[in-house]
Amino acid sequence: MAKLLEGKILAQKLKQDLSKEIVGLQAKLARPLALESIVVGDHASSSLYCNAQKKTAESLNIEYRLHTLGAAVPEQELIGLIERLNRDETSDGILVQMPLPGHIDYKRVSRFIAPQKDVEGMHPANIGKLLFGKAKIVPCTAAAVMALLKETAINLRGKSCVIVGHSEIVGKPLSLLLLDEFATVSVCHIATSEAGRLKDYVQQAEVLAVAVGKAGIVKGEWIKKDAVVIDVGINRVADKTVGDVEFDEAAKRASWITPVPGGVGPLTVVMLMKNLVEAVKQKI
Ligand code: NAD
Repeated sequence: MAKLLEGKILAQKLKQDLSKEIVGLQAKLARPLALESIVVGDHASSSLYCNAQKKTAESLNIEYRLHTLGAAVPEQELIGLIERLNRDETSDGILVQMPLPGHIDYKRVSRFIAPQKDVEGMHPANIGKLLFGKAKIVPCTAAAVMALLKETAINLRGKSCVIVGHSEIVGKPLSLLLLDEFATVSVCHIATSEAGRLKDYVQQAEVLAVAVGKAGIVKGEWIKKDAVVIDVGINRVADKTVGDVEFDEAAKRASWITPVPGGVGPLTVVMLMKNLVEAVKQKI
């Protein structure tokens, strides 16, 4: 039976380390660290994320400044706010919450965030550093997955690592981080399933990370014996939150497995605060 890889516990540990660093940084800045969070429109999911971020920020004495814009706000106005926050010397990090209304292009807008305040690590300048293995600011969910893998003490060198999901925020940056550890990385996505090959890839994974957003897309019986399974997916099924992997069956085969909820999620928000701390360390 697999051991549980609990993000909640690791998140507490990392928060303690961060909180010591933050005390020192606050003293140097002579003010609290400040995180700017921009929400456009009214979405249950972004208010859920904002509440979790605010709670974590405040528990670390970080000022969480929420900017709420109407759903019909012109893109140029959103960019104007970002540029104002870029110039604000009392502000250390900026993030634009997803989802955005259809008329706003996240990729275009996020490029206006100054790279040194890009706490999500999604600016092309920061992604470029990730490619060269020199990133201090790393996309939060991918960083959370790597932190969980480190907890298992697995040596990734030469291991067969399979990622299911190739989004810009999870799968693609995770593939770069795993390559930096000399893992052998396969990235699966919708077309892998269309080609009927998802099971083949999953079955040979010594490390499996799944970020799709479809409950049970990875069958428990596909899991290789003693694999490490990281389930990033978050799905609501019959009023319960579940991941993308069939947990019970997978747990019988894996050596480690993340629960959902309580796995990757609680760590992701701590990684956001870690990125904020890195952003401040780089400027002072
Ligand atoms: P996304 O929609 O941007 O990407 C989904 C990926 O899944 C794509 O690569 C797509 O090709 C692939 N996919 C879709 N259907 C597939 C199929 N049938 N077979 C194989 N691959 C398929 O999603 P995202 O933003 O990366 O999020 C993925 C999931 O992770 C969601 O459930 C999201 O809520 C969750 N998530 C969790 C955290 C966290 O902190 N725990 C953070 C980010 C995302």
